[in-house]
This record gives sequence, structure tokens and C-alpha cells, in this order.
Amino acid sequence: MVQNSSRIELSQAALRNNLAFIRTRVGPHPTLSMVVKANAYGHGVDSIVPMALRAGVDHFSVASGYEAEQVLAAGGPDVGVLVMGILYDEDLPWAIERGVEFFVFDLGRLERAAATAAELGRRARVHLEVETGGNRTGLPIDELPRAIQLLRKRADALDFVGCCTHLAGAESLATRFRIDRQLKAFDAVRRTLDRKGVKPRMLHIASSAAALVMPEIAAFDLVRVGVASYGLWPSPDVYNMHLMRINKTRDNPLTRVLTWKTDVMHVKSVKKDEFVGYGTAYQAAADMRIAVLPLGYANGYPRETSNKGHVLIRGYKAPIVGLVNMNLFMVDVTRIPEAAVGDVVVLVGRQRNNKINISSFSEFSSALNTEFVCRLPSTIPRTIVR
Ligand SMILES: *Cc1c(COP(=O)(O)O)cnc(C)c1O
Repeated sequence: MVQNSSRIELSQAALRNNLAFIRTRVGPHPTLSMVVKANAYGHGVDSIVPMALRAGVDHFSVASGYEAEQVLAAGGPDVGVLVMGILYDEDLPWAIERGVEFFVFDLGRLERAAATAAELGRRARVHLEVETGGNRTGLPIDELPRAIQLLRKRADALDFVGCCTHLAGAESLATRFRIDRQLKAFDAVRRTLDRKGVKPRMLHIASSAAALVMPEIAAFDLVRVGVASYGLWPSPDVYNMHLMRINKTRDNPLTRVLTWKTDVMHVKSVKKDEFVGYGTAYQAAADMRIAVLPLGYANGYPRETSNKGHVLIRGYKAPIVGLVNMNLFMVDVTRIPEAAVGDVVVLVGRQRNNKINISSFSEFSSALNTEFVCRLPSTIPRTIVR
């Protein structure tokens, strides 16, 4: 097969390790729902779903009906899938027929779900997402009584699987006051449901940050963990809170699942005073040697790293010189004289004693570490390694 210009390796051991660490934090009770929206945070949903199944996780959360279909294709018809975002009315019959669970955050959807399920002779598996102060999606609290009424009256057609909310930034200490308010608001909803005797099978609010930082109060019956399962810390605050909790200055309980590699395409000498690549972004201050790499921003390599980032060649850091182009960029290998065409280049990951972390890309731009991985094109081949 003709090769692509780069390749991604996904570590089964790393994923297993991360899921096990999350499990130690939340305890044995909650269902672990791995969030695999955005092509499994850019890792590749077709690979990540079977890897997660092998690691004992069989419930997945996604952002759309489209992504739920991808998960079912990758994991088989029996895996649990929860759509947290867009599910079009036209796709309701599909979701209900296949047992796909979905967030409901308006009364119209609840009514349509009941009607569609009744027509199909099935029960719609709904998670009532309530507004607690995040002000994204979420059923307004003044509509809760009507929702409860519907859930009770149409219990034949509505399977009340979950009641949930989403926290507005549990990854940041600075927003803790908002999180506390949301926890209180959610507790009020829980008590109302209790009082009315309509009990969901599960309550859930935690994403990675809350699951890691406040599992005692936030884990409930299910946790929706994305970023941490891929081995990425939700934020520096979460990592620091982890260190404070275990009273250490360093610790590495999460392991990056993804490694990204390419190869040196071309090597050449550049004379002092010459410019490298487009424009005048980089001028050689002395005679130098550069390596040309066969990928660029069209392949998910951020243009913001122009003249700033590094790659690894033969275990050494090679600085990017000039602009990252659409399909190639150049690195300085003057101090790596053995560098040659065909050398393996590590873009993200470890090579000998050096490594390039995903978080390092956040130093060049305002991009979140999740933003960087989410942009990795689905066309890059993925292989699962041990
Ligand atoms: C993306 C998302 C999550 C997962 O968040 P992480 O921080 O990646 O763990 C959980 N819940 C909802 C509603 C989300 O949109």
C-alpha cells in the first residue's frame, strides 16, 4: 500500500493504565463512559473503541448522532453509546431502534422521543440534562415539573436512564465558586426527583477534571471521561491538585496514548545569509544543514510552531526553521550531522532520552492540548501498539 506522509501509534498499555488510574480515583461503582467525540479526540475512533473494549470499558459518549453511528460501527451493536449533543429529529427513530442513549434538554424533544418510541414499540433511553448554571444546553429548571410529569406518564415509551449536568470548568480553580453553585443546583434537582418518585437509573456530572479532583462529591453513578483517558491532564490546575493530594512534587499516573511520526524526506546545506522556505521568516546566521519533513498544516501540524517548535531526530531536538507550509516544513539538523533521508522523525512522543509532549504545542498558541489532537486528520493511518 502507498504510504501516507505520517503515522500515528496508539498504545494499548497507556490507555489501559489511564483508565485504571481513573478507576482508582472514582472507585468501583460508577460506570466509566469514555468520551470519544471528535474522532476520539483525534486519536481515531475506529481504533480507540476496540482498544477501550479490550481495557474493559464498554460505554462511550459522543457529541452527535453521526459519531454514535461511528462508535457502533467500531464496537458492534451491543456497546453503550450516549449522544450528549446534536441528534436530529430525523435520526430519532434510528437512535431509539438501536438503543442509543441521548441527552434531552428540551420538552419538545422529550415529547417527540415518547411519540417516536411508542410508534416503534420501543423505549427511548433518555438522559435528562438539567440546567445548573453552565448555560449551554440543559433543561431550564422551571420546566422540570413538566418533564417529570412526562417521564412518569410515558414510562412505557421513555426509559429514564440518567439525570445529568455538565460543569462549567471543573479544571480551573478560579471557577470553583461556579462549580459549587452547580453542585448545589444539581442536588436540588436530585431531591425533587426523589420527592416525586421518578428515579433515573443514574446521576452523572463529572468529566475528567471532576472525576480526578473531586470524585467523592462528583462521581455519582457514571463519569464521562475524555481527555484524561488519552493520558492528557485537563489543565495544569488539575495536575497540581493531584500533586498536592498525594503530597509529591512529581508524579506520572497518566500516560500519553498517542505517538506521531514521520520521516526525513530531504536533507541539504544552506549557506550563511540565505533564507529558508517562503518569504524571509528565517535567515541562516551561519552555514547550516536542514532536513525537510513531508507534512504541514494540511496534515494537522500547527502552523503556529513556525520558527518555534521542535521535532526529534536520532533522539535530538531539531528546531523548526521558517514557516510550517501546507505539506512540508524544515528543521535545523546542523548539530545532528548523522541525520539522513529516511530517518524516523518523532513529532509527538519519545525518542531515546527526549520527548515531545502534546502540552508543548500550547506554548506556541492559545490552542488547548485537546484542540491540537482533535485536528489530527482522520486520514493519517493509526496502528495499535502494545
Ligand atoms: C467533552 C465532554 C465531556 C468530557 O470532557 P473531558 O474534559 O475531556 O473529560 C464530558 N461531558 C460533556 C457534556 C462533554 O461535552
